[in-house]
Amino acid sequence: MAALPCRAHIRLQANVVQQAGSVLPEIPASPPNPSLARGRRERSESLRDFYVKAVKTPSSLSLLTEALRRLPGIGPKSAQRMAYHLLQHDRDGAAMLGRALFQAVENIHHCSLCNTFTEYPVCEMCLDEERDKALLCVVETPADQLMIEQTLTFKGRYFVLMGRLSPLDGIGPKDIHLEKLINRATDGNVSEVVLATNFTNEGEATAHYISEMLKARGLKVSRLARGVPVGGELEYVDAGTIARAMLDRRAT
Ligand SMILES: [Zn+2]
Repeated sequence: MAALPCRAHIRLQANVVQQAGSVLPEIPASPPNPSLARGRRERSESLRDFYVKAVKTPSSLSLLTEALRRLPGIGPKSAQRMAYHLLQHDRDGAAMLGRALFQAVENIHHCSLCNTFTEYPVCEMCLDEERDKALLCVVETPADQLMIEQTLTFKGRYFVLMGRLSPLDGIGPKDIHLEKLINRATDGNVSEVVLATNFTNEGEATAHYISEMLKARGLKVSRLARGVPVGGELEYVDAGTIARAMLDRRAT
């Protein structure tokens, strides 16, 4: 049988209820003004829509960060740091960068003969009548082309693949414009093709593929020699390079 509450216990419970009532606001059974309640509900709904939209729509800052992440070697943290730097310390530079990017994308295309970047249908180097039409050097990128030009040792013309064969990355013959290279190499002027692709596995595979393809069309094909770098000491050169240098040795 449950014990009945004593008189003091009942008084204590009554005090607790009274104190709580003095602190908490009273909740009306029904809204005092229906139009006021409707206004509050509409404001609340529009506020919720605003936050939902803000979460779903990427901000300008996140769009900028995502765009910067497209640069090679740039991860999310670096992209964020670059975006903050441009916006906080170099807004003029950021505007200049935006304009330059837009202009470059609008105006720069591939040369119809050598495939390098140019603002004209045919690049200046292909139009240069003083360059040797019989020699055609095949490189992977415009940066490689520039490096060879800086040596002042090659006076022929170029073909820029804009890449290299890489089956693992899904890059096949069509992606490096080999049809265009065949057309250039068999135009009747070229007598020797110099393969200057990189000495990486992909670069070597690309050179071998192009070599077979062009030899089958009766063209003379040569490859850049490999060896000890200028100023290099044999003690510090890797064994693979010394081995290639030994195989490719020539009479002095
Ligand atoms: Zn060109």
